[in-house]
Amino acid sequence: MAPLRILIVGCSIAGPTLATFLLLSDLPAAEKPHITILERGSSIRKQGQNVDIRGAGVKIIRKLGLEPAIRAATTREIGVQFVDADNRIWTSNQADKTGQVSTPTADIEVLRGTLADICYRRSKSVSEDVQRNGGAGIEYIFGDHLDELDQDGSQVHVHFAKSGQRRSFDLVVGADGLQSGTRNLAWGAEGEKDRIKRLGMYAAFFSMPKGETDSDWRRWFHAPGRKWIMVRPSDDRDITTVLMSVVNEKDDRLLQVAAKGREDIGAQKRLMQEYFQDVGWESKRILDGMMQTKDFYYDFVGQVKMDKWSKGRVVLLGDAGYCASPISGMGTTLAFTGGYNLAGAILQHPTDPPTAFAQYEEEMWPVVTRAQKLFPGAPHSMAPETVWGIWTLHAVFYVIKQSGLVWLLFNIAWVVNWLGLEKLLYRIGGPPANTVRVKEYGFRNLPEWDGIDR
Ligand SMILES: Cc1cc2nc3c(=O)[nH]c(=O)nc-3n(C[C@H](O)[C@H](O)[C@H](O)COP(=O)(O)OP(=O)(O)OC[C@H]3O[C@@H](n4cnc5c(N)ncnc54)[C@H](O)[C@@H]3O)c2cc1C
Repeated sequence: MAPLRILIVGCSIAGPTLATFLLLSDLPAAEKPHITILERGSSIRKQGQNVDIRGAGVKIIRKLGLEPAIRAATTREIGVQFVDADNRIWTSNQADKTGQVSTPTADIEVLRGTLADICYRRSKSVSEDVQRNGGAGIEYIFGDHLDELDQDGSQVHVHFAKSGQRRSFDLVVGADGLQSGTRNLAWGAEGEKDRIKRLGMYAAFFSMPKGETDSDWRRWFHAPGRKWIMVRPSDDRDITTVLMSVVNEKDDRLLQVAAKGREDIGAQKRLMQEYFQDVGWESKRILDGMMQTKDFYYDFVGQVKMDKWSKGRVVLLGDAGYCASPISGMGTTLAFTGGYNLAGAILQHPTDPPTAFAQYEEEMWPVVTRAQKLFPGAPHSMAPETVWGIWTLHAVFYVIKQSGLVWLLFNIAWVVNWLGLEKLLYRIGGPPANTVRVKEYGFRNLPEWDGIDR
């Protein structure tokens, strides 16, 4: 059988993870899949704020030998503090650094762009190894995207918008994020509004110079009108990262500026300034930082919900197929486990895409369903409308902390985990990432790598 020709669209977390595992089977190098990764950015987009890796995600980065590289690049966040306009700390929640229990700050917190770069470089080194042994490995194409996609029973035919090339592949994987172009081309643009569930929340991410009050704690400030600001440590000791959020379903401008993407960052910044200029706390310093930053990113917060993640020979992976939103805390876990399970399914059924994709869906569906169940009432419950609502939120967190309830739950979860009773944890509503199964497909485990190219 000729090696499979697979196009993966998107080179962030899910795309390179899939590509790497596809090359880790015991097939001879010449028989391994021929992979092309297409990324719209002109290079790896070292953008995006703090993301965490939990449970199953940690097991998968261990299989890829990436744990030392990722741990060396973490932001070293200690935990979360809820602060008021006078910067008084109402309560703080320290991270569980054993990784056993899911606290708001995870054991591994890393910047999204740094993580994407590590995943890309690992895929490249595995590809070079395959090429040295006579295989095709991975071809990377940056700075282009697809504008046509068409399939017959045996191939997918695509057109590259910038280079103008026409090429055909056995399979196409859309790993191109929340606003996936692959999903749009294969399923049709007209159905997008039914597939994307907007949560009425908008978020701006950026980084700025570290100030005197910034530390290794995440500080979370709430303002009336369903607005909040979070400042967090970065992997660069001189930099602070900021996440600003507005929950509002009435102001159409919030969605209109999001639709313009990177074409009108000026309008996005101006709108955020309008929303946050009177909120007090450290907003003046933060808005000054926002106006000067070079890495501003703004979008709506939403989830992708579909009946099926494949259509013929096209399949979706990660945020493109089943984004759970940043507030789920599950984005990277789904990207890692999705890439891993899709690679396993394709390699087990190389000549039968419907069976491979059905197996991938069966493995991932319960995990995604669970991940997309958000905290009750979220995102509104996390962003009170009034001063009294904010006071109540702080008071509730304060009482929970002082009552020792957190400590009790923490210890129960730790013991359940330690005894390996993950199914029990799953039933009683434990953190999904810790209970996601990592099935064995016989991939070769990679040696540990510290992230330094020698
Ligand atoms: C710039 C950016 C910033 C983000 N910031 C945060 C954050 O601060 N916090 C958080 O929790 N999550 C953030 N996310 C989402 C988070 O990275 C994902 O939930 C998670 O990592 C899942 O990864 P993924 O690989 O499925 O998708 P993504 O990480 O979204 O990656 C998709 C990739 O596809 C590329 N792409 C998009 N469209 C096309 C196209 N038409 N053709 C070719 N390539 C395309 C993108 O440039 C990107 O590299 C961000 C995503 C992006 C792209």
